[in-house]
Amino acid sequence: LVVLGIETSCDDTAAAVVKSNGEILSQVVSSQAELLAKYGGVAPKMAEEAHSLVIDQVVQETLDKANLTERDLSAVAVTIGPGLSLCLRVGVRKARKIAGCFNLPIIGIHHMEAHALVARLMERDLQFPFMALLISGGHNLLILARDLGQYIQLGTTIDDAIGEAYDKSAKWLGLDLRRSGGPAIEELAREGDAQSIKFSIPMKQHKDCNFSYAGLKTQVRLAIESQKINAEIPISSASTQDRSSRADIAASFQRVAVLHLEERCERAIQWAKKMEPSLKYMVVSGGVASNQYVRTQLDQVVKRSNLQLVCPPPSLCTDNGVMVAWTGIEHFRMGRFDPPPPADEPEDFVYDLRPRWPLGEEYAEGRSEAR
Ligand code: ATP
Ligand code: FE
Repeated sequence: LVVLGIETSCDDTAAAVVKSNGEILSQVVSSQAELLAKYGGVAPKMAEEAHSLVIDQVVQETLDKANLTERDLSAVAVTIGPGLSLCLRVGVRKARKIAGCFNLPIIGIHHMEAHALVARLMERDLQFPFMALLISGGHNLLILARDLGQYIQLGTTIDDAIGEAYDKSAKWLGLDLRRSGGPAIEELAREGDAQSIKFSIPMKQHKDCNFSYAGLKTQVRLAIESQKINAEIPISSASTQDRSSRADIAASFQRVAVLHLEERCERAIQWAKKMEPSLKYMVVSGGVASNQYVRTQLDQVVKRSNLQLVCPPPSLCTDNGVMVAWTGIEHFRMGRFDPPPPADEPEDFVYDLRPRWPLGEEYAEGRSEAR
């Protein structure tokens, strides 16, 4: 099997060709980070235009790099949710055009499932059941993956995701956002004293596995205001003392942000072991999982619980086409795909897009366990 994967759910336009033996034949990611830095956030209409502008080129480059044409493909996989409808549509339209013209089956992919399953491409021993902590710009999910397509949600965020807190903190600290906020905070935090500011750990009194990062975000903003840090002055022009107080805030924020993850993971592992006593692995994926401090801290938690951590390499943690192609392969093997669309499908066809799409069912016992 040779599958083309296309991803346009948020601000990266990505594609890849992957073989069912796990070989990655090619991948291309075109990022809108510079555009976002310039305008200070994602505007759906602008993101849609940016995707539309590059999608043909990204897919063509992906095929060229793999030395393939559409005729060599077995199927096309594309993210259909969750994400911004306007953006998802660009990828889905492209995928259906190719599938229609070349008579290929099409597989609609859940973006967060893809973040989790890409770990199975890297670690061939990773069998179901396993746990996954998925941490990114829009999601904070703790799931138990019992089988392909069979997920139990142990926890989610009640407000902001951790990546959102990284991104806003980076912006308020005047960091260089041409990549994204996460890597900028990670780098600056290495210079800072993580104990210098005592931010409080979110939701300590709630004995469940849900997350909250809105409060921590506010604590960071208040610390920045009280230290009179001016985000208009980029970090590169800040005085030594100004730079070091920004670094202290970054390090203190990161420490508490990750402590919150650690605490929730410990509890989630206990919950999951009740359902699956033979549990061996915990996957950590999504953009924030490319952070080295996050990886090191979670590795310790996971080891203490006698599990093994599986973390995809950073380029497969942030949004990419490989995870979509691979998840397509997993579903295709199980016979889960749609027949080729008609070659003359109109451009205004109403696609099956799922901007809000929960991954699996909620863990019902979670509420009573939390008491
Ligand atoms: P979602 O998967 O929820 O739809 P997304 O698709 O926007 O979100 P991902 O690429 O999965 O994005 O993750 C992007 C997020 O990861 C951003 O918030 C970014 O700041 C964060 N991130 C990336 N690298 C790092 C890092 N080294 N440290 C911390 N955060 C990081
Ligand atoms: Fe993502």
